[in-house]
Amino acid sequence: MNIAVVGTGYVGLVTGVGLSEIGHHVVCIDTDSEKIKKMSNGQSPIFEPDLENLMVKNISEGRLKFTSNHSKAFKDVDIIYIAVGTPENEDGTADLSYVDQVIVNISQNIENDIILVTKSTVPVGTNEYIRSELRKKIPAFLKVEVVSNPEFLREGSAVYDIFHGDRIVIGSDNKDALNVIREVNEPFGIPIFETDIRSAEMIKYASNAFLATKISFINEIANICEKVGADVDEVANGMGMDSRVGNQFLKAGIGYGGSCFPKDTNALKKIAEHVEYEFSLLSAVIEFNNKQQRRLLEFIPNDFPSLENKNIGVLGLAFKPNTDDIRESASLLVIPELLEMGSNVKVYDPAAIKNAKNLLSKEVQFCDNYIDVIKDSDLVFILTDWDEFKSIPIETYIKYMNVPNIYDGRNCYSINEIKDQPVNYKSIGRVTVNNLIENHVKTK
Ligand code: NAD
Repeated sequence: MNIAVVGTGYVGLVTGVGLSEIGHHVVCIDTDSEKIKKMSNGQSPIFEPDLENLMVKNISEGRLKFTSNHSKAFKDVDIIYIAVGTPENEDGTADLSYVDQVIVNISQNIENDIILVTKSTVPVGTNEYIRSELRKKIPAFLKVEVVSNPEFLREGSAVYDIFHGDRIVIGSDNKDALNVIREVNEPFGIPIFETDIRSAEMIKYASNAFLATKISFINEIANICEKVGADVDEVANGMGMDSRVGNQFLKAGIGYGGSCFPKDTNALKKIAEHVEYEFSLLSAVIEFNNKQQRRLLEFIPNDFPSLENKNIGVLGLAFKPNTDDIRESASLLVIPELLEMGSNVKVYDPAAIKNAKNLLSKEVQFCDNYIDVIKDSDLVFILTDWDEFKSIPIETYIKYMNVPNIYDGRNCYSINEIKDQPVNYKSIGRVTVNNLIENHVKTK
């Protein structure tokens, strides 16, 4: 099949690479010509494990191309995927302006019948809107059908997910279009769930809202565990053994972030509001998560009368490990507050520094490694559970910090390995370990 993918972000690029790997001829289009130049030279503009290798392979085998020219891209294609962003409007609804622009791009450039596949996460009814807008704009002799095909990949393991996802959802009211898109996807070897358009659109929002709820549920349990002396990791393990509960998304921490859960939960709340339904459970989840992202800051008054001129280290800027994405990351809330309190802030992240530099204050000192962050710090925050951080020996903090105060927002260490160490260690949903003697002197 000849396929065009519009938008080469986390979803579009991985989709384009995945479709070319299973044998389709794919052209990826983006309005960002810098990105296109990079990708044409075999360089991935995003950090995503295994993506670049696969991209280079498919370019060299002649199945994958990049362009910023829509008319060139849409020439002779049978299928167009939409994978542009649908960010959040100020009122919480999904901003469909990029989708609207694609409708214009397509209507001005297609020369044959097409099937339009929407990967972008869009409110219920949007695929029907896209189809009707296109039908209004294109010549009557051209046929266009739409298929909703929401994406479920996880940043950080997107390449793995595209070949090993749990299901592929496709929704359309046109049987022929559905059959074509099923055939396109069959080589992935993943179960395909066929449904109507509106249900497909809703499956995406409902899935993200459910996962956000699960995370918030275990985080509220964690906050109670802290007060009653239980250990949330033990609780989650015990709960997860029940197959009705399931053991995923039960890791307590400082809440969810990223480009999807925050905006998609807000958008679903709005979708409900538009049909005069108050989704009170989801509202509580959103409100709670906003608080939980700041949870570690609540520990400060107990340990420090003031953070004025204190050296604070921050490990982790990305909203989760194995990605350079910092959208809605806890780091973007925590770091400005630390600066506001008068502290000196040093940060390190294995992949997200470049993105963070655009959003964080110039006062922040960006480091090339974790030792530089830990060195001479009075307090270290762990905000992202990169493997690199999980494997830092606790002795490193003891050796290099002014005073080993560690606030771990991702429970990277077990209480067992910490409990006899000369540290003040606070985490989420577990006992505090404070073995610091008063006026602890530098141990190095
Ligand atoms: P992104 O912002 O990373 O990328 C979007 C890309 O589209 C950008 O490179 C932009 O330049 C390009 N673009 C915008 N308008 C264009 C146009 N008219 N023509 C060509 N290119 C254009 O977005 P993303 O994170 O890949 O997300 C895309 C969609 O997929 C969103 O709706 C999102 O909610 C959904 N989604 C994202 C994820 C994820 O993990 N990121 C997972 C599942 C679903």
